[in-house]
Amino acid sequence: MSVRVRVAPSPTGAPHLGILRTALFDFLCARHHRGTMILRIEDTDRNRFVPGCEEEIMASLRWLGIDWDEGPDVGGPFGPYRQSERKEAGIYAIWVQKLLDEGYAYWAFDTPEELEEMREYQQVNRQPVGYFGGTWRDASGAQVEAARASGKPGVIRLKMPRGRLLVCDDLVRGRVEFDSDTVDDPVLIKADGMPTYHFAAMVDDHLMEITHIIRGVEWISSAPKHVWLFEAFGWTPPQFVHVQVINGPDGKKLSKRHGDTRVFDFKYAGFLPEALANFVALIGWAPGGDREIMSMDELVEAFELDGLQPSPGVFDIEKLRWMNGHYLRGLSGESLLEKVGAYSGDPDVRAFWARDEHAALPTGPALADLSRALTLDPALAEEAFVLVRERVVTLADFGEACDFVFVDRPVMDPAAVGKWLTVPHARRLFECLAADLVSPEDAISVEACERLVRSFAEGHGIDKLGPVVHPVRVALTGRTVGPGLFELMSVLGRRRMIERFENALRLLP
Ligand code: GLU
Repeated sequence: MSVRVRVAPSPTGAPHLGILRTALFDFLCARHHRGTMILRIEDTDRNRFVPGCEEEIMASLRWLGIDWDEGPDVGGPFGPYRQSERKEAGIYAIWVQKLLDEGYAYWAFDTPEELEEMREYQQVNRQPVGYFGGTWRDASGAQVEAARASGKPGVIRLKMPRGRLLVCDDLVRGRVEFDSDTVDDPVLIKADGMPTYHFAAMVDDHLMEITHIIRGVEWISSAPKHVWLFEAFGWTPPQFVHVQVINGPDGKKLSKRHGDTRVFDFKYAGFLPEALANFVALIGWAPGGDREIMSMDELVEAFELDGLQPSPGVFDIEKLRWMNGHYLRGLSGESLLEKVGAYSGDPDVRAFWARDEHAALPTGPALADLSRALTLDPALAEEAFVLVRERVVTLADFGEACDFVFVDRPVMDPAAVGKWLTVPHARRLFECLAADLVSPEDAISVEACERLVRSFAEGHGIDKLGPVVHPVRVALTGRTVGPGLFELMSVLGRRRMIERFENALRLLP
């Protein structure tokens, strides 16, 4: 049987890491087995529906490199793929009627006050909390008819069996047993006629011929209800695969502080989708061995569900940063130009850095400057990106890392000036270099730059290169740290260097 897996997000808020990871596992599983990846939108909770969220879910998944073969936007033979549309098409009504007819489901007309009272009673008496029958589980047909005829709002509940063992065979945790007496009768159809998750998801998983239900472990406590639904229908359940929670490095539940943010915030913060996909795939899944850097193709190739870990996954932002730096270093100049260009010009990225929590950082303004510089001289920008790529971690870092290249005059760090522009040979050094650089050509090779600096040192009896290299770096960049000096000299070119040495000469004591 060919593998069919689905990711089934509810459009109730911007997508975060959890859904991204489930979708990625689904996708990797589908592609590994040359099966089918399905996107189903579970939008039956109209109170929690957030407009625009479905679009953001799709855009976030596509940005990460996840696509699907069947879904609301691409269609497919098992559509519609939005549950609200499936409800309109009468799909759930047919199946719930079957359960009602066969005695597996029942109407219940409890008022919210009655339900509250029941809950309080159960809490006070230390009984399991939930709907275990109430007045309606065994009500007569006549009682139900009378309630319906009077127009009382009612729900349809699943009649859980009593005195039974219900078993969920989970691929990650093995056999998980539940005493059916501890499981309450869940609502299948709400008073507004909408199906609940329990009902719609399981009916759809069956009708869409899903082979593996890959979902968060928070659903495992609902698994007996789902197992029972399948049994009540006489259907074979798919393979359940409950993936573990994601914790922060401190072992606590992932919070915003740890990085549990909107997926697109990772994009705006300057992470590459390749790096994020690689990183997310390894939260709770291991390919065996110590492989860490894996492209999407390699992940697809290696992905087996039995590599899913039974212990919680850990989200470590430092690891993501390390991976991102790794992926950035692997990009060609041309590709860096394209990516940094798109990034620095993206209005959403600007809005991200303008948020209150980032407003004090220089990143936003540096990116805006970078974006301007990039249009003026893309060739210089490309060289600058290659020059600094060893030293940056995210796309956002390029603005500050390269700003000294594009400005007319670098901003001089007073400490750097105080330390290195005060050496006795500074004046001679800058005058000599400025004179040596004069040429009709602007370009100068890395080797020629090195020769220039070395010959000054040799010619002036300076044994070590440091006392020459540091003042030159400060004159050219305003700072004491940065990329390799000869490389950066070559990127700046003769004209810019001459201007900067002349500028530095004016700063000498
Ligand atoms: N709609 C559910 C959610 O967003 C999906 C759970 C599942 O994958 O079955 O949590």
